[in-house]
Amino acid sequence: MDFSSCTISDLLDPEGFACSCGKVHRVSLRYVDIAQGAINRIPEMLHKTGVTKPFLIADLCTYEAAGRRVSEILDASHIPFAKYIFQVERPESNECAVGLAAMAFDTSCDGILAVGSGSIGDISKIIARLSGNPLITIATAPSMDGFASPTCSNIVSGLKSTVPGVCPIAIIGDLDVLCSAPTRMLQAGLGDMAAKPNALLEWRLSNLINGEYYCGNVASLMRKSAYQCLSSASGLMNRDPQAVTHIMEGLVMSGIAMAFADTTRPASGIDHYFSHIWDMLALQRGELPDLHGIQVGIGTIYSIQIYEMIKQQKPDSHKARSCMNEFDWQRWQQSIREFLPSAADSIIRQAAAENRFDSQKHASRFQTISQHWDEIVQIIADDLPDLHTVRSQLQSAGAPVSAQEIGISPEILKRTFLTTKDLRNKYMASSLLWDMGLLEEAANKLF
Ligand SMILES: [Zn+2]
Ligand SMILES: [Zn+2]
Repeated sequence: MDFSSCTISDLLDPEGFACSCGKVHRVSLRYVDIAQGAINRIPEMLHKTGVTKPFLIADLCTYEAAGRRVSEILDASHIPFAKYIFQVERPESNECAVGLAAMAFDTSCDGILAVGSGSIGDISKIIARLSGNPLITIATAPSMDGFASPTCSNIVSGLKSTVPGVCPIAIIGDLDVLCSAPTRMLQAGLGDMAAKPNALLEWRLSNLINGEYYCGNVASLMRKSAYQCLSSASGLMNRDPQAVTHIMEGLVMSGIAMAFADTTRPASGIDHYFSHIWDMLALQRGELPDLHGIQVGIGTIYSIQIYEMIKQQKPDSHKARSCMNEFDWQRWQQSIREFLPSAADSIIRQAAAENRFDSQKHASRFQTISQHWDEIVQIIADDLPDLHTVRSQLQSAGAPVSAQEIGISPEILKRTFLTTKDLRNKYMASSLLWDMGLLEEAANKLF
């Protein structure tokens, strides 16, 4: 089965697909309805999914965008339901918001109807998990790729964390609703999709350098979807339904690809780490960060530049060894504490538990890098998107393409790049540069 020639509904087979990579690729999402007027088919969707009394969750914005219409449709079809509407425009997905929705939950309900994208989806995934009910998501904006994923991004004790939720059983994307989403959210969806080719390239490199699991079939599915989104970027400005459909389908596809691979690799690379760090910095200042996809789109531009630079390098064992020898665990901890004080403890604890800076592991990775350098350069040459094309595609949709445009100074940008490799044990462009003893040099050259 070649996934890249499949439609979304082809991929939702509950049996899954036995693949030559050794995995059975499966997702628990069952129904996806992305079309004009899809919202009118909610009664049918409830029937298919066995939900008799949904609990609707929305905020002031998403209630206006689609929630009110959903309530009218349920009333007209005599379907009983309960609802909780956050009395704010953009609730933060944190303990308080989850607590409010949980306290309002009507235990006679047997399904969750999340009306919204982003935080409403994240809050609803937790309520669905805790109540043991299936989740149906009604997207109000094609702004991020978390629709089909079973995890959610929540703030826990002030720290941006991944929290288990449930994968929705159904996703409804009514084009009339999606095409009316705020422009910034459409741009964010495009930015999140722009990152996928680089994420796939990075996944392939980690497979080569670390033997990390990789599936070319899942990668080809994601690659095709991403290029389809990017090629219709210019249609987003005038809210062309075809362009919006591609973005929404691409975002759902990303979730499916992550579920299939059982890792975030097909969808997220160093581009996402720029965004994660900017989220944390905003949180530290007590401010709301920019939209995930907007930041990821900018991170993608830098990611392409970083890989273009890597392609020009040659492994030098002297440089690699002296960088490792100069590494100072205490100094490293101090710099993390300075830059990301609220997240520093957990970052340091994780790095220590993994023995991340072990010199023997470094030496063995460097050996692999040296032996396979031509192959590494070839993978980059094959898979790296063209910088000018991606930049003009994002710009044609009016999306920002530099950190400066979203108020991030050159100094913070450089520090962000240097810190991307430190957040988690995920091998990315900055990890490769560090292994080669070239990270500082690259940071000075690029930023
Ligand atoms: Zn596979
Ligand atoms: Zn993303």
